[in-house]
Amino acid sequence: MVIAPSPAVTASPWTDPFGRPHTYLRVSITDRCNFRCGYCMPAQGVIWRPRSEILNFEEIERLVRLFVRGGVTKVRLTGGEPAVRRGLEELIARLAVIEGLREIWMTTNGSTLAKKADAYRRAGLTGLNVSLDSLRRERFAEIARRDELPKVLEGIETALGAGFRPLKINVVVMAGVNEDELLDFAELASDRPIQVRFIEFMPFKGNGWQRGDLYPAARMREDLRERYRLTPLETSPNAVARGFAIEGGKGSVAFVASMTESFCDGCNRLRLTADGTVKSCLFLRADGNLRDSLRAGADDEALATIVRDSLARKWKEHPPMENLLATNDHSMLEIGG
Ligand code: SF4
Repeated sequence: MVIAPSPAVTASPWTDPFGRPHTYLRVSITDRCNFRCGYCMPAQGVIWRPRSEILNFEEIERLVRLFVRGGVTKVRLTGGEPAVRRGLEELIARLAVIEGLREIWMTTNGSTLAKKADAYRRAGLTGLNVSLDSLRRERFAEIARRDELPKVLEGIETALGAGFRPLKINVVVMAGVNEDELLDFAELASDRPIQVRFIEFMPFKGNGWQRGDLYPAARMREDLRERYRLTPLETSPNAVARGFAIEGGKGSVAFVASMTESFCDGCNRLRLTADGTVKSCLFLRADGNLRDSLRAGADDEALATIVRDSLARKWKEHPPMENLLATNDHSMLEIGG
């Protein structure tokens, strides 16, 4: 069935009150995960949503088509852990044929890559970020509450072999937990086509964040410069990460410093939670449920209005870190970062 582009959707793309066009959609396709990372999954665990509340593949495809007509060119699949969603390759293949969608990325904990990296690639996945917070087996098991480091490392090698280059590795740096591994992670990037992205620890519902847990990006760079010469890389105005080449290295490092070096000016990101709710900012309350309207028979114009209303309430930049818990009603698990 060909859906005629609604003139209103194409006429006024996803632009917020500050003139920022939103061209990047992060789609959480499940609230479930096979790991139990302490900075993401509330210690008391979560009650998984019934499957009926989660968007099905037809609904995800229809909504992504809608967002693409409004100017989105890049989609990232997140979770929970997207790879626990059965039929993931089918979903990727459905999205890969959408005209105007140039990139399909996925953020994964890497637990399925050893078996599935090739299949994701063949289905049309264009890029991968692997979340990995320690290269030490015991510490990995402590953070993720799963003893899966060997499998994740094997998955990374398989993904490189499948053509995901540069492969990106996301490391959440937590003071007193893993900041002593910065040099080891940079070593990974020096002899492989990998970009290691060091992420400042952020406050989310249920993750027990405290100011003292934050290890600022400026200190991370200082630590790395003890061994490496870092040269700034050109960065797009929408980028969340500031990249640096490692002298003589095959890869690079980057810093996602949303707590100490805000990058909201160039924000182009919209989010869709697994239950079909729009979030115009990572730290803003979710508002506007597309799933319910869609299931009630809403047409594309009505759905587009929900997205635009959410964007109209977007702020210029997130408030100071101490206030973020007050404005955000989701755990990291539910948003997928
Ligand atoms: S905090 Fe919100 S406004 Fe700032 S970059 Fe992130 S999503 Fe965009």
